[in-house]
Amino acid sequence: MTIQFADLLLPDELHRGLVKEGYETPTPVQQQVIPLAMEGADLLVSAATGSGKTAAFLLPMMQRFVDNRSRASATRALILVPTRELARQVYIQFMRLGSFTRLTAGVITGGEAKSHQIATLRKNPEILVATPGRLLEHLEGGDEVELGDLEILVLDEADRMLDMGFADDVLTIIGRCNPNRQSLLFSATLHHKGLAGITGPLLRDPQTLVINPVREQHPDIDHQILLSDEPEHKELQLLWLLEHEPFDKALVFANTRERTVALGNFLIGRGQRVLVLNGEMEQRERNRVMGLYHRGEVPILIATDLAARGLDVPGVGLVINLDPPRTGDEYLHRTGRTGRAGEHGVAITLVNSLEWNRVEGIARYLRLEFQPRTIKGLESRFQGPTRRKGHAKAAQAARSEKAAKAQAAAKREAERPKDRVRDRKDVGKRRKPTAATQAGLAPPKRSKPDNPPRGT
Ligand code: AMP
Repeated sequence: MTIQFADLLLPDELHRGLVKEGYETPTPVQQQVIPLAMEGADLLVSAATGSGKTAAFLLPMMQRFVDNRSRASATRALILVPTRELARQVYIQFMRLGSFTRLTAGVITGGEAKSHQIATLRKNPEILVATPGRLLEHLEGGDEVELGDLEILVLDEADRMLDMGFADDVLTIIGRCNPNRQSLLFSATLHHKGLAGITGPLLRDPQTLVINPVREQHPDIDHQILLSDEPEHKELQLLWLLEHEPFDKALVFANTRERTVALGNFLIGRGQRVLVLNGEMEQRERNRVMGLYHRGEVPILIATDLAARGLDVPGVGLVINLDPPRTGDEYLHRTGRTGRAGEHGVAITLVNSLEWNRVEGIARYLRLEFQPRTIKGLESRFQGPTRRKGHAKAAQAARSEKAAKAQAAAKREAERPKDRVRDRKDVGKRRKPTAATQAGLAPPKRSKPDNPPRGT
């Protein structure tokens, strides 16, 4: 049965927020998480990016705080996220959904002035959205963070947090939280090897919900693959795609900060309006870039994985992997930036000969069928699939040759004993009988040159 927002008996203020946001029906993750979270259960949730998981943990928390104001409490909910961008994203969604409530939230992340954050903490917002490193700095510095009253602790994108080396920080923070809280953990995959080290101390008797298994394909995305050669060739292909593909907003992923900058320069030199986002930039600059992109003032963003994690921008119709990602999960994170909440998206991955195996591995892992893509006039020298065919033919030819050799050897082997027998018989036949052999007194002597048979 499909649950509707009306069935969830959310307070009126939140319904108005949902209408304002244009949410009509809860997404699958919201359908499963919200009722259980409202009952106070601890949850371990596997939900892919773009599934609507943010509202799935925000709405029950907001419902509880609207229905039960508790002004005397210190922080009531803590949402831990891996990156600054995701923290801002969660905060923005809170502000939108909660625009008719009087609830407040604060953001505590690295890259921003601590003094400003201390001022935020002094206002005692109900909800804190934080990255683990900076929150811990405040906790250890005695800066107004009080988690003893905490009612709800959320770990969002827990697998990313582990990948980024936050396990110890997260465990320390968990140790400082009210032990009688509710805890919710969201992760793209529940198979991450470090997860068990966190779920034990975090969750009590949790219910496990696997909503969008990480391997499931995003239904609204066309996954395309474009064969490429050296970096300069990729740049020309990228330029062509940006000039010819239809999109409101395009997101280009490169694997290094240097590459994002070089690409930005190249595209600007060719008359494109682009933004660059990477981890080396000051937080204020990152916010400025995201604002411009979000508002659609500049339509193309070139980013590294880290900078783009958690990025939720409406209208991203095109994702280009200039360099293929390193893993299948990373591929899902990148391409999940398009095709969000029912919009259609196209993801194009440029692959050179050195990257082919990696991309093939990703396709196998995600059970993804890439559609081959070509650009007339910009074809690559590398012809992956054709070469694979060639490989197959060569392998077949090698197999046939090997089989033929084996057959011939077997034939020779089969014939050899016959020859010997015949030879031996021949030797016997050819030997001229001696008087002794004829009389049956002595065996026939070997025909050695130094010992010729007698009688010859
Ligand atoms: P998330 O997975 O939380 O990052 O959400 C992905 C996108 O889906 C965000 O842009 C949300 O605003 C949007 N979204 C979340 N829930 C709904 C819903 N029930 N209906 C429509 N859009 C939604």
